Amino acid sequence: MYDYDEQREKIRQKREKAQELLRAKRPSNLEKKPDWFKVRLPGGDNYKDLKKNLRENKIWTVCEEASCPNLSECWAAKTATMMILGGTCTRACKFCHVDTGNPQGVINEEEIANAANMAKVMSLNYLVITSVDRDDLPDFGASHFAKVIESVRTHHPSTFVEVLIPDFNGVEEHMLTLGNARPFVIAQNIETVERLTHVVRDRRAGYTKTLDCLKFYKEKFPKTTTKTSVMVGLGETLDELIECMDDLRSVDCDIITFGQYLRPTPRHLPVTRYYKPEEFEELKNIAYEKGFKFVASGPLVRSSYKAADYLKHLRDQGFDI
Ligand code: SF4
Repeated sequence: MYDYDEQREKIRQKREKAQELLRAKRPSNLEKKPDWFKVRLPGGDNYKDLKKNLRENKIWTVCEEASCPNLSECWAAKTATMMILGGTCTRACKFCHVDTGNPQGVINEEEIANAANMAKVMSLNYLVITSVDRDDLPDFGASHFAKVIESVRTHHPSTFVEVLIPDFNGVEEHMLTLGNARPFVIAQNIETVERLTHVVRDRRAGYTKTLDCLKFYKEKFPKTTTKTSVMVGLGETLDELIECMDDLRSVDCDIITFGQYLRPTPRHLPVTRYYKPEEFEELKNIAYEKGFKFVASGPLVRSSYKAADYLKHLRDQGFDI
């Protein structure tokens, strides 16, 4: 039987081993990260107290488990990310470090209460809920997402919920289940440009499939913000990135983020190059010109990086939220 805790421990050990391997095997300049990747490690009494509190409540954040470099900034802004639907993905994208396997239809119902509890324990303004792909479930996990969103709304209504979702295999019935739970933002990552999609993502994912999903949510739930993220440094060209932005605007996608792809282990796709901070700035300017409502772009930007900045942006524009 699939065991969540056992799986979590297994993933942690695998990640540590992979990082050691990568450190040992990184003699070349190509894999050496430029200076702008240096970040301050989280620390201080507040951080330690919060971590202790989370463990006592058996709550795990993606921010910690992925050793996210943005943790200090995000937690200070009362933003955090939680992973639901377990730690084993039924797909195998070539950039991603999550375990691949078959979770055999098991769901941990405790995640529903845990999400609301996490919002409370961390006094969150903004909670990002994400998951692995669950092609083993009849609805691909859509109803579990909906229950988690409703639980947070009921027990901690001041927390805004963004969901970073899988494609639910493009089945409209399941996408409606998710949309009807009314998350504040629906995010689905396109990850890379069209030409590289089949190299980078699992063959069941698709460039057009992601565009179609984003289009569906915007058409059915026009008041809900849609969002996507692109990794750079996988061999794409600027023209291809611009084409990708045009495709996303053609389905009225509201928010885009750009971040540097980092190779999790030597078994994953290599980094073709590290973009400079000024190149991220250029991408941001182009995206705003294309009509995106909000753009985050930088070497360490991840799809949920300071996601609550979008709230600030809306308030600065005079929206009463
Ligand atoms: S970027 Fe996302 S995963 Fe990283 S600390 Fe921020 S909220 Fe957590």
